[in-house]
Order: sequence, then structure tokens, then C-alpha cells
Amino acid sequence: MSPAGRPATPAPVTAFIGLGSNLEDPEAQLRAALLELAELPDTRLIARSPFYRSAPVGPPGQPDYINAVAALDTRLQPQELLAGLQAIEQAHGRRRAGLRWGPRTLDLDLLLHGDQALSTPALTLPHPRLTERAFVLRPLADIAPGLVLPDGTTVETHLRRCPQGGLVRLET
Ligand code: ATP
Ligand code: CA
Ligand code: CA
Repeated sequence: MSPAGRPATPAPVTAFIGLGSNLEDPEAQLRAALLELAELPDTRLIARSPFYRSAPVGPPGQPDYINAVAALDTRLQPQELLAGLQAIEQAHGRRRAGLRWGPRTLDLDLLLHGDQALSTPALTLPHPRLTERAFVLRPLADIAPGLVLPDGTTVETHLRRCPQGGLVRLET
């Protein structure tokens, strides 16, 4: 509690968001989503990576993805931030009825929230597949190359260990 009896405002932490889309003009979906991330309450957008094109993971026959990573300074708790991300996905017409890893207008994954480790049904931190995916590690390394993950290993080290297949940097 603060001296005035109000709960203290939590200090901001840096959170990283993985963005992905492979439907309905994916680059425009990501550009709009970045503006919407910047408008989340108690949150500032501090960096965003270039956009990348990646081959789809999951069911065959779907279009390539466009991916990027954004860095936020936020006072939101992880669950509050995830709720904000899911509201943005919904506003982009995200449908959750389909196959796992099926095509989508917008996917916003909470990759990291400071150094928090969490394992609940609704939210796992760090994101459980973060270190397996070049389409996440490459843009994360662009904006935070020396970042040390909670496992004590840098993003760049994880990236060097990860197969790079099918990832193309775009001019945006
Ligand atoms: P993947 O998680 O492998 O990237 P996906 O993004 O296609 O797959 P979704 O269908 O978007 O998976 O999300 C499934 C559930 O994952 C969500 O309902 C959400 O509650 C949960 N989830 C757990 N941890 C996270 C996280 N760190 N970021 C986003 N969602 C998470
Ligand atoms: Ca995802
Ligand atoms: Ca997701």
C-alpha cells in the first residue's frame, strides 16, 4: 500500500508479443494489431521487429504466415495482458473452432512477461514453444538480441540452435 492507502502502482515490465497471420491481408492485419497493442491500457509499444514470411506449421495447404514480434512496457498483469491480446484477436475476426494450428486472421502470443514463470491451463510463461520457432526467435533477436530468457540462455543462442527453414525477411 502507498502512504495514502491506495495499492501501489506496479512497476512496468517489458513483455514480448509474437504476432502471426495468414488470412485476409496478413501484413495489414499485423500493422493494425501493432497500433492496437500501443493502445492497450497502462501499456506502451516500445519496439517492433521487421515482418517475416514463414512456411506454415500445422495442417497442410494453408497460406504462408507473416510474423513479427513487439516489445511492450506494461503495468498489466500477465492474465490482464492475455485478455487484451485475445480481445484484439477477436476484433480481427479470429475463429477458434478449427484445427490446431489452422489458418487465422491474427494470433497474438504472450511470449514473455518480464521474468515471470507461470504454468496454468490458460497461460504458460514463457510461451512453451518460444525456443523451437525461428519465426519467433529471429524477430525477437532483432529487437532484443542480448535478452536472457528465464532458462539463463540468450535469445541469440536459442536462435543459432533452431532450424531456420522457410523464413524470409520482408522490406517492411
Ligand atoms: P501455439 O500456442 O502453439 O502458438 P496457437 O497460438 O495456435 O498455438 P491458440 O489456439 O491461439 O494456440 O491458443 C490456445 C490457448 O493457449 C489459449 O486459449 C490460451 O489460453 C493458451 N495460452 C497458454 N499460454 C499462452 C501464452 N503464453 N500466450 C498465448 N496463449 C497462451
Ligand atoms: Ca501461436
Ligand atoms: Ca495463440
